[in-house]
Amino acid sequence: MYIQDQLREIRSNIAAAEQRAGRPAGSTTLLAVSKTFPVSDIMHAYADGQRLFGENRLQEALTKIPAMPADCEWHIIGPLQRNKVRKALEAGVTLLQAVDSRKLAEAISRIAGELGITARILLEVNVDGEESKHGFTPSELQEEWDALAALPHLDIRGLMCIPAPTETPEGARPAFATLRRLADALRTRGPLPLPELSMGMSHDYAVAVEEGATIVRVGSAIFGKRDYSH
Ligand SMILES: *Cc1c(COP(=O)(O)O)cnc(C)c1O
Repeated sequence: MYIQDQLREIRSNIAAAEQRAGRPAGSTTLLAVSKTFPVSDIMHAYADGQRLFGENRLQEALTKIPAMPADCEWHIIGPLQRNKVRKALEAGVTLLQAVDSRKLAEAISRIAGELGITARILLEVNVDGEESKHGFTPSELQEEWDALAALPHLDIRGLMCIPAPTETPEGARPAFATLRRLADALRTRGPLPLPELSMGMSHDYAVAVEEGATIVRVGSAIFGKRDYSH
């Protein structure tokens, strides 16, 4: 079974990277990015024990969540429009990973308050400072930190990044190190413990683990090449 073989190889690569970095075994969570793949493929991963899945479009997640067993956990890893926040929270998405502006964070806090819940989020950081990219630049995040940390119905669990593509996995290391150092600085500043760092994809997840990722988001290395033609 292709998907199950791939999953096993990735889990063992993650374990090896944890060991190289002197990190505790099992300190990295593998998120299987199932965007564009059908429920039948996702069920192969489920059969191999995978329970955490990520989708980058809410609409697609909303069709898959009810079609998969209820013990799956779902993260939204792509940009979320403010008018879709309520739907995402009502659907039971457990982590909104790509919160890329203070306006969005404020909207999530307000809607979570209306629903009587605390929403778990990650703040997306534009680690390589490209104009076109989503996310807070490191200096924006430092500036907005006190206001973000004070939002009442949010549990800001940590930071995530999607660095610009690099030739080699090693090429992404500086971006991952930047995210880790930023999280360290914000932890020192307080008041949040920020346990999660979501970084690393199919190409470079092992390097991300070495740099301290607690969540790696892996799609094509598990499920194969994505087909966007339909
Ligand atoms: C698609 C996607 C991934 C997975 O990418 P692969 O290279 O297929 O592993 C990870 N993170 C985000 C935000 C994505 O949109």
